[in-house]
Amino acid sequence: MIITILGTESLGVRGLSCSVRLHGRRIVIDPGVALGWSRYGFLPHPFQIAIGAGVREEIIEELRNADDVVFSHFDGDHCPLSEPNPYQLGIHEVRNVLSNCRIWAKGPDNSSPTQLRRRTELTEAIRKDIPGADGMSAGPLEFSFSVPHGQQGEKGTMVMMSRIEEGGVAFVHASDIQLLDGKTTELILDWKPDILLASGPPLYRYSSSPSFQAQRQAAWENALKLSEHIDTLIIDHHLFRSEEGSAWLDRLRRTARGRVLCAADFMQREPLFLEAWRKKLYEWLPVPRGWHDDYRQGKVGFDEYRVRGWEALREKGRIKPCKWYDCCPIKAYTDAGRLERYWVEHYCLVRNRACIRYRMEEAGEYHPDNMLPNGEIREDL
Ligand code: SF4
Repeated sequence: MIITILGTESLGVRGLSCSVRLHGRRIVIDPGVALGWSRYGFLPHPFQIAIGAGVREEIIEELRNADDVVFSHFDGDHCPLSEPNPYQLGIHEVRNVLSNCRIWAKGPDNSSPTQLRRRTELTEAIRKDIPGADGMSAGPLEFSFSVPHGQQGEKGTMVMMSRIEEGGVAFVHASDIQLLDGKTTELILDWKPDILLASGPPLYRYSSSPSFQAQRQAAWENALKLSEHIDTLIIDHHLFRSEEGSAWLDRLRRTARGRVLCAADFMQREPLFLEAWRKKLYEWLPVPRGWHDDYRQGKVGFDEYRVRGWEALREKGRIKPCKWYDCCPIKAYTDAGRLERYWVEHYCLVRNRACIRYRMEEAGEYHPDNMLPNGEIREDL
């Protein structure tokens, strides 16, 4: 089983999309992306828009090769939309590939009117029924009945969790549960996952009121309980919309028995908490008034911000590139315009320990200059 987390807050966007590759089968869960329309009074920074566009492309690419697609619910950061804002995934971009996949989606019960509308729009766009998968099992896949999107009793906003098992390894995707509900925690533990990917608590919303403090405590206790029994606990999404989320996860790492990670850790790379850093991004890289309107109308692009954004993050110590970055031929090819920026942005600048070049360098093994971070040899370099 190969789990690739595609988009979530520690990877720079809103959502909890991932792909799970089994022998002869690829499952994509929650193919959607958003950036958070307004945080600290700011629209998404153009650097985040650039990162979001890359995540959107990766989701589309995964869907092209998908056999199964799972929708835990129909919020705009978890599914493609018929009327996306400029930063979301549109149904028109994936209609054909979705038509050819098996779809497993949360049923219409316990959905808000907006979620129901989105479900209907998706059904119409791909021209096939989407029956509710709640409570179903099919081969390696198993789905929960609806569980709260947060606290117990929040009717109208429930989600479906997924369990995938192959070769004795069980993975559970628990979207938007926010770790707030004890019964949902028990249900996850009953499923005995080896790896859990779950949404953490939305600390950015919590004031000092007793009800919010009770939620904070519940999330902490549920996280600890999960970590006692699950080898790899990945907590992300709502948790990282503020910088407080990183401190919360660090404290959990120190307290918990098992391995506790954010999605970026799991993907062996540096995190990009771009929504939490939004205010600072505007200070480091100011954006002219009217830029977002011009972007929506296609008059300006984000390429300049994309390059300068990485430089700013490095300069401000928010990312630590690979130790070989400044002398690596991959950087030299990129600077010379001979290689797409994809490679430095997905490997070098985020210190991705999955880089084959990096691993071979560490092992003292020969590798040619024209070997890409994924091990592919590029004859044109
Ligand atoms: S290609 Fe690999 S080894 Fe070279 S700088 Fe990038 S991550 Fe490091």
